[in-house]
Amino acid sequence: TVRIHGISKSFGALKVLDDIELSLPAGSVTAILGPSGSGKSTLLRAINHLERVDNGFISVDGELVGYAQKGDALYELKEKDILKRRADIGMVFQSFNLFPHLTVLENLIEAPIQVRRIGREEAAQLALELLARIGLSDKVNAYPRQLSGGQQQRVAIARALALKPKVLLFDEPTSALDPELVGEVLDVIKELARTGTTLLIVTHEIGFAREVADTVVFMESGKILEAGPPARIFNEAEHPRTREFLAKVL
Ligand code: ATP
Ligand code: MG
Repeated sequence: TVRIHGISKSFGALKVLDDIELSLPAGSVTAILGPSGSGKSTLLRAINHLERVDNGFISVDGELVGYAQKGDALYELKEKDILKRRADIGMVFQSFNLFPHLTVLENLIEAPIQVRRIGREEAAQLALELLARIGLSDKVNAYPRQLSGGQQQRVAIARALALKPKVLLFDEPTSALDPELVGEVLDVIKELARTGTTLLIVTHEIGFAREVADTVVFMESGKILEAGPPARIFNEAEHPRTREFLAKVL
């Protein structure tokens, strides 16, 4: 379970996250919707401690992310320990972000060897299993530039999974893709949802959110305006701003 408890974040005078409270039970799928600039990416980055928050905390299975507690005070962990904790929280970005000079296999084994300290053989074994799962076994020795956008994004998902994270965060994973490649990436995410991976997905794919998410969260101006099951949010949202937004994107 991921707990996001009362987090706030400002950039100068701009409050980008305003007292965000959200819980992601193990195995749940949560979709975040909201207009541009509402703080969705900042929230994901904060969960991962890529962005330091001003207030509140994030925990994964009871362990604080980025911090340790001493008495009543929190102190920030050392970079090395932050990286270890961060390995529990996989992240997939809009722009695949594979290492361009490494093959698919090398992309998949790098972090498990460096961060999880597992042996090369074991890491390669897991990588091959993951490639089979995303249907790209034949691309094991290819370089990212030799792959389509959809294939690169599927490799990026496999790379995140290679660390065996407790939760996987997606920031608009399909919005940089040509339309005909969106489906193959959504299918991989659906498969993860079906097999019980805890997922948090920022997306504009409303149909996908409706089908796959247990909970849909609507954000605006750094706040969660409402959250609930897709059937309720899409058919009878309480907040006029949610209805307005959905009317535009549906
Ligand atoms: P989009 O749908 O366009 O991706 P978003 O909901 O992901 O938008 P964020 O990227 O989280 O929005 O940005 C929220 C606000 O914070 C924006 O107004 C943005 O300009 C601002 N912001 C984000 N990062 C920084 C930064 N490093 N410094 C200053 N302002 C920032
Ligand atoms: Mg964003």
